Amino acid sequence: MRFCTLSSCSYANSIVVQDRQTCVLVDCGLRKRDIKPFLAEVGLTPGDLDAVLITHCHVDHVYGLKYLLKERTIPVYSSSPVLKQLRARTSFCGQQDFRALSPVTPEKIGTLTVNHFRLSHDVETIGFTICGDGEKMGFITDTGFVPDYCLQAFKTVDYLYIESNHDLEMYKYSKKPPHVIRRNLGSSGHLSNDQCGQALKSMGLSNCKLVVLGHLSEEDNEPRRAIASARRFLPPGIPLRCAPSRIPGPWS
Ligand SMILES: [Zn+2]
Ligand SMILES: [Zn+2]
Repeated sequence: MRFCTLSSCSYANSIVVQDRQTCVLVDCGLRKRDIKPFLAEVGLTPGDLDAVLITHCHVDHVYGLKYLLKERTIPVYSSSPVLKQLRARTSFCGQQDFRALSPVTPEKIGTLTVNHFRLSHDVETIGFTICGDGEKMGFITDTGFVPDYCLQAFKTVDYLYIESNHDLEMYKYSKKPPHVIRRNLGSSGHLSNDQCGQALKSMGLSNCKLVVLGHLSEEDNEPRRAIASARRFLPPGIPLRCAPSRIPGPWS
């Protein structure tokens, strides 16, 4: 199993996950002109994608979806509430194959098995675990806190992508309006570096092969701060890095 971020920041989020036979995109917040070049940069075309999974309907996660679906019809999976919001927000020109994830049964998408978990954001949002090739990846972004059931389910992941959005020290000097800062710090906002670290500590992650920190705010965080915070809470020896913000990252 391997994965690669195409973009990971407050402006555009999209990640490819694949095993030997099945390839899925998690979110498609890319600009129209970036979709094909960014996929090409990691050796893929829209034709290689077996499905798209959507975490939630904020523009940085779904902006490019309508353009991707114009290239070809690809099944789009999410929870029923997220799909309902997606339909209400965006015109898909008739081309849509939206499939609701079961609230109780894991979803088989090709050779991958997908579980989803409700998160705490200001719109309906889900995180995922994706299993393939005998490995498990956890995917958690855009949440004000990490619910206990996620901490439990993510204990055994081989790979983890987790939001480390802002640094509390840097927020003291932020140019963001106070209501935006209040929203981001709230229980339906985003994970700070400290909260990300606490979640990593609670998960344990003793068998994890790689942790990738994502969705870093370009104004209110720095990779070195996010890494330093996460490192304090991770068992020693577990590889850790930040996803590049606006360019495709390396395959993991
Ligand atoms: Zn976001
Ligand atoms: Zn969001």
